[in-house]
Amino acid sequence: MRLENRYKWKIVTIAILSVLILLGLLYLKLMKPGSSANKKDAEPTPTPTAEVTATPEPTPTPEPTPTPITVDLDSDDSINRLLNKNHPVNKDYVPGDLVAVDVKSNGKQQLRAEAAEQLKRMFDDAIAQKIYFKLISGYRSYGEQESLYNTYVNRYGRAKADIMDDHPGASEHQLGLAVDLGNWNGTCELNACYVKYPTYTFLQEHAHEYGFIERYPEGKQEITGIQYSPWHYRYVGVEEATKIHESGLTMEEYYGY
Ligand SMILES: [Zn+2]
Repeated sequence: MRLENRYKWKIVTIAILSVLILLGLLYLKLMKPGSSANKKDAEPTPTPTAEVTATPEPTPTPEPTPTPITVDLDSDDSINRLLNKNHPVNKDYVPGDLVAVDVKSNGKQQLRAEAAEQLKRMFDDAIAQKIYFKLISGYRSYGEQESLYNTYVNRYGRAKADIMDDHPGASEHQLGLAVDLGNWNGTCELNACYVKYPTYTFLQEHAHEYGFIERYPEGKQEITGIQYSPWHYRYVGVEEATKIHESGLTMEEYYGY
């Protein structure tokens, strides 16, 4: 019995000592600098994740390159002067180089010299193909435009008169660069039925070769402000007339004006 007790106490003592030693070791380990418990503080600051790359700004779709304008659309004396109700000419403007046009016409018509010369050339080439034009009208002064316009207002009303090419200050006839063309015998004069005749077919195929363009085509009234007028041609010079003709656009559209 005594022996057994001694043995028991011995085991208890060893157990208590072991527990104390373990606690001591644990205490030392926790207090030791660099121990796992303190390690967290020493851990290197984590490298920040690279900043989220900013979404690049979308590249703007390039605007369609407009036709570079190489001609003078603004000076009254320029053969390329763009004229409409939003860009009228002064009532005092009179071209300085008006000449009588040497072609069969409705009275003595005038045009600026360069346009007159090209028109004569075109009429002569047409005659060689047995196609006979009449020059219905060429240059008209502001005053003539005004009385013509007032006549049309009285006859058709202002709304109709406003879409005819005779609006004072906005008529290309005042520039001395516009012509109204028809058949020598007057059939379908200043009427859309004019397009049935060989003179009109000739204009469609060749007018640009002489520097003239059809200025108020069908379906473009919203853009030009002028009703379909297949008889009204505008002189702009051979180079520009050819480019505009080939584009199928009006002057306003072609120059993005
Ligand atoms: Zn006209």
